[in-house]
Amino acid sequence: MNDCIFCKIIKGEIPSYKIYEDEFVYAFLDIACDSYGHTLVIPKKHCTNVLDVDQDYLVACIKAVQKISKHYVDDCGFEGVNILNASGKCAGQSVFHLHFHIVPRKSSDGMDLWPLKDKYQIDLADVCKKLAL
Ligand code: 5GP
Ligand code: ZN
Repeated sequence: MNDCIFCKIIKGEIPSYKIYEDEFVYAFLDIACDSYGHTLVIPKKHCTNVLDVDQDYLVACIKAVQKISKHYVDDCGFEGVNILNASGKCAGQSVFHLHFHIVPRKSSDGMDLWPLKDKYQIDLADVCKKLAL
C-alpha cells in the first residue's frame, strides 16, 4: 500500500530501529517510547489486521512474537511480556497494517496494562449460546 507507514518502514522509506527480520516478518521499536523495549511485529505483506491477514503471514507473525519474547526474557533481563493487538478502529487500532505489540515486563516496572474493572452482571451460558462457533 502506497500510503501505509508500516509498508514504508518495511521498504526502508521511513527509518526504524529493527529488532528482528525474516522472509515474512519485520519487527521494530514502537516510536511511542511509552515503555522500555515496546516492539511492533508486522507482516511484510500488507493487510489491515487479524481479520484479513493470510494465515501463512499470521503464523509467521506469531512465531516471531514468541521468538522475540523469549529473547527478551532469556537474554535481556525481562520477566515476561504483554502481547497486544488492536483489530478495528473500535478496538483502538490507529495504524491499519496488522501489528502485534510486545511490551517486555518486569514485576517492578509499575505498569498496569490490564486494569481491573467492576464485574458486569453477565449470564455466561447466554453469552456462550450466542457466541460459540
Ligand atoms: P495501534 O494503536 O494501531 O495498536 O498501534 C500503532 C502503533 O504504531 C502505536 O503504538 C504508535 O506509537 C506506532 N507508530 C505509529 N507511527 C509509527 C512510526 O512511524 N514508527 C514507529 N516505529 N512506530 C509508529
Ligand atoms: Zn502496509
